[in-house]
This record gives sequence, C-alpha cells and structure tokens, in this order.
Amino acid sequence: MDFETTFIAQVITVIGFAVGLSIAVASGRYPYHIRNSLRAYAYGKLLLGSAFLIAGLRGGAAPELLVPLANGLGVAGLAMNYTSVRHLQNRPVRRLMPVAVGLAVALACSLLLLVGGISHVRILTSFATSAILLVIAFEVLVRYEDRGIPHYVTGLLSATLAVVYLVRMGAGMVQGEMPVDQMVDDRVERVTFQLSMLGTVMGAINYVLMASDEFNRELTKLAHTDGLTGSLNRRRLFELGEVEFRRARRHGRDLTVLVLDIDRFKAVNDRAGHPFGDRVIQAVADCCAAQIRREDSVGRIGGEEFAILLPETGVEAGRLLAERLRSAIERQLAQLGAEGGVTVTCSIGGVSLTREHSEFSDLMAQSDSALYDAKHAGRNQVRFYPAVALTPALHA
Ligand code: GH3
Ligand code: MG
Ligand code: MG
Repeated sequence: MDFETTFIAQVITVIGFAVGLSIAVASGRYPYHIRNSLRAYAYGKLLLGSAFLIAGLRGGAAPELLVPLANGLGVAGLAMNYTSVRHLQNRPVRRLMPVAVGLAVALACSLLLLVGGISHVRILTSFATSAILLVIAFEVLVRYEDRGIPHYVTGLLSATLAVVYLVRMGAGMVQGEMPVDQMVDDRVERVTFQLSMLGTVMGAINYVLMASDEFNRELTKLAHTDGLTGSLNRRRLFELGEVEFRRARRHGRDLTVLVLDIDRFKAVNDRAGHPFGDRVIQAVADCCAAQIRREDSVGRIGGEEFAILLPETGVEAGRLLAERLRSAIERQLAQLGAEGGVTVTCSIGGVSLTREHSEFSDLMAQSDSALYDAKHAGRNQVRFYPAVALTPALHA
C-alpha cells in the first residue's frame, strides 16, 4: 500500500464526511450526554474531513491561506475528539477549547510561513497533533471509568498515532527546509497519511463501540432504578439480595436485611395530598441512602416501603443501624412533615442470616414479620425477627 498523499487525503475526506454525517444524524436518539458526545465527535470528523479536503485539493496553491486553514481545521477537529470523550463520561467540557486551539494553530502557521517556511509548519502541527492525541490516550486509558476493549483500542491507537506524529516532527527538524511539492510527497509524509487514514477508520469504529457501551450502561442503570426516589427498584434489590445471600452463605459471612415502612402514610396522603406524599417518600429514600455504607443497598420495594441489604453486618450492628435510621428519619423529616401538617415516622423490621435460612425469601418474609411486630407495638420503632437457635442470647 503506497498511495500518494493527495489520494490518501481524499480518502480521509470521504471517511471524515461519511462518519461525521452518519453520527450527527443518529445522535438525536440518545440520552443527553451521549448525544453531546456523538455530536462533538461528528463535528470533529467534519472538520477533519474539511482539513484533508483542502490538503488533498490545494496541490501547493495559495499556501499562505490554505496551509493555516487546513491545519487549523484539522487540529480543531482532533480537539473535538477529546471533548467527545469527556462528554461520554459526563465530565465538564470547555466547548470553545477546540475552536481556540484551531485558531491558535492557524495563526501560528501563518506566522511561521512568514518567518520560517513550510517545514516549520510541519514541526508545529505535528507537535500539536501529537500532544492532543496523547491527551486523548491519557483520558481514555487512565481516567475513564469502567474501560472495555474499545477503550483500550482507542487509547492505544491514539498513543501510537502520537508517536507517528512525533516522528513526523523529528523528520521535519532533521530535513530542514525543502520545496512544498517535494515535502508533500516524501516518505514520512506518506506513511503519516496512511496511518492517519487507518487511525480514522479504526478510531471511528471504536468510538462508536465506546458510545454504545455507555448507552448500555445508561439503560442498565435505568432498568435498576426506581423513578421516584433514585433508589434501586424492587427487581434489582431482590436480584442483589439473592447474590448477597448466596455469597454470605457460601463464605459463612454476616448479612442483615431491613424492611422499612412509613407509618400511617395513607393519612399523610389524605391530609397533605399525593404530591406531598411523594416528597416524603423521596426524603425517606435520601435519609436511607445517607445512613448506609457503599457496599449496602437500598431499594424501594413498594409504595412507601423500602428494603435495605447490609452485607458483613451481624445482628448487633444491624440493630444499631436500624435504630439510627429510624431516629434520623424522625428528626430529619420533622420540618418537611410540619409543612404538610403531619408527623413522619417509620417502622423497621430486621433479620440477620443464620444457618437456618435456605433462601433469600426467608429473610424477606421474616423481616416483614418483624415489621408487622413493630407496627403492632405502636409504630416508630425497630423490631428484629425473634431469637434463632444458634445465637439465642443476641435476639432476646
Ligand atoms: P401503616 O402505618 O400500617 O403502614 O399505615 P399506612 O397508612 O402507611 O398503610 P399502608 O402501608 O398500607 O399504606 C400505603 C399507602 O401508600 C397507600 C397508598 O395510597 C400510598 N402510596 C403507595 N405508593 C405511593 C406513591 O408512590 N406516592 C404516594 N404519595 N403514595 C403512595
Ligand atoms: Mg405504611
Ligand atoms: Mg406499606
């Protein structure tokens, strides 16, 4: 494969426009941050396509105008790849950064053409390209959370191309000044363009895979989340419950399950209205989330009912946490309750794993029964499922 640089530039133009247009058209169907990322990527590819269109067509004409323009557009397009990766992770993005970088490079190219020559331009743009590629590689290989194969391919590709552009920069320094037409056709330039073409195709495929990965993550999150409170939904809580139950049983570890139900919630709805009731449910969910550790899980398993999984937590620690949670809800919801002319409290039932439990559903049934006891004992209190054979003293 030893095509002329102008031909390769034209191929990159076609690829850039095709990829840019396809992704821009498809981007509208995706969630906000993925859409922003897809658009940034698409615009980046359109800029890159325009840069190579100029590079492929100009044939050495009007260099003082077209060289800065092509290089400015190309570098701005590459900088947009960086912003698209930032968008994909929902990280802050400076929208004008690619424009600023492109303008700076175009301006520097104009000055270098005046005082130096085309090889100075090549040194500068190779350096800028390489720097941006390295920043992208760092962003994808080091800072990206939950990396998969397409992330590693993108990162390694960027790093490899960064090296290619550093070699191009080195060649520019060693060769010194030469006529434009000779430079356009030299070996380093050809190899750089060929690898850039390969990088554009592989980069686009892997970027789309990265975006699809992100979209799947988003869908999974939605499928696991309760829409009102942001807690886990019933299905996910039970799935995690099964997992934690099996793990605790296999390794002989502690596990405590709590079930929490808001007291006399029908009265809250009746007095203050359903929307106010929803705010109470949200506030209780926030309270639960604030009281638990990272490895614990809270899920909304019914209208105003939550379940909490506490791995590595025995009966004593479980009771303490349940009591802390009950009193936190009583205290922290006093103000909100006063707004609606109601008092918000909750009752909690709990149970800790013993050898007698053979299914996760046993734990749920027993914590429900403990909750029933708490309701019957007057509400706003914690009850654990009665003593079990192995550690009767703890459950007295
Ligand atoms: P108890 O102390 O025995 O739990 O009394 P309660 O009134 O809370 O009784 P129960 O748990 O049976 O009542 C649940 C109420 O929660 C009934 C239903 O109208 C209300 N509810 C269920 N889901 C929602 C919701 O999403 N939003 C609001 N605002 N209310 C809900
Ligand atoms: Mg209730
Ligand atoms: Mg209930």
